[in-house]
Amino acid sequence: MKSEQQTECKRCGICCQKGGPALHGQDLALVRRGRLPWENLITIRRGELAYNPLSDKIEPVLQELVKIRGTGQEWCCCYYDPAGKGCSIYGSRPVACGVLKCWQPEETLALVGQDLLSRLDILEEGDPRRSLVQEYEQLCPCPDLQEVEKSLADQDESALRSLEMQVNTDIAFRDRVVQELNLPLARELFLFGRPLFQLLQAFGVGVSESSQGLRLTIRKVGI
Ligand code: SF4
Ligand code: SF4
Repeated sequence: MKSEQQTECKRCGICCQKGGPALHGQDLALVRRGRLPWENLITIRRGELAYNPLSDKIEPVLQELVKIRGTGQEWCCCYYDPAGKGCSIYGSRPVACGVLKCWQPEETLALVGQDLLSRLDILEEGDPRRSLVQEYEQLCPCPDLQEVEKSLADQDESALRSLEMQVNTDIAFRDRVVQELNLPLARELFLFGRPLFQLLQAFGVGVSESSQGLRLTIRKVGI
């Protein structure tokens, strides 16, 4: 995307359509003021796969990210206005958007992985949901999805059964908490990220219901 000729933003919207930004320390005030409500955030947990602009590869995330969510099933930032080809929260956009110059990416690259906001940075001291996030991470840590992908490619049946147990523990925890807190899906995605079964579907894992809970099968190998 870098161009020698380009010197300013052409408002093409491609950067916003590729996905919302990760939040950094400077964005905490926007979250606390409700400018970036939890409903518009999604957590990418340690171990999930994401594009790393520094290595230019899809890799497991080493440190949790909280991002602005996409639109429906797409990653296009929920604040992108396609009709106006612009940002609907321009004056309150996160720091990563403010420094983005696709034709001169140095400032953006310098920000990658630095001073990232986590859920526990956002949840204030004394908020009872902090302990739920901690309990969830202890009970249902996200596995390294690159390793998972390899085991699925090897048709490793015991790895699949182990994933099945993790998937069911994950769902049982979410069901309990969603009921206890009457939690809407959008807030669940901020507090706990996406459920493991959903992440596994990207690797061709089929999910069906059985009397013992969710059952996993390998439908096809690879993404
Ligand atoms: S920064 Fe680049 S990709 Fe983003 S809207 Fe401007 S020209 Fe398009
Ligand atoms: S917050 Fe605004 S500038 Fe940033 S990705 Fe979303 S639409 Fe684009």
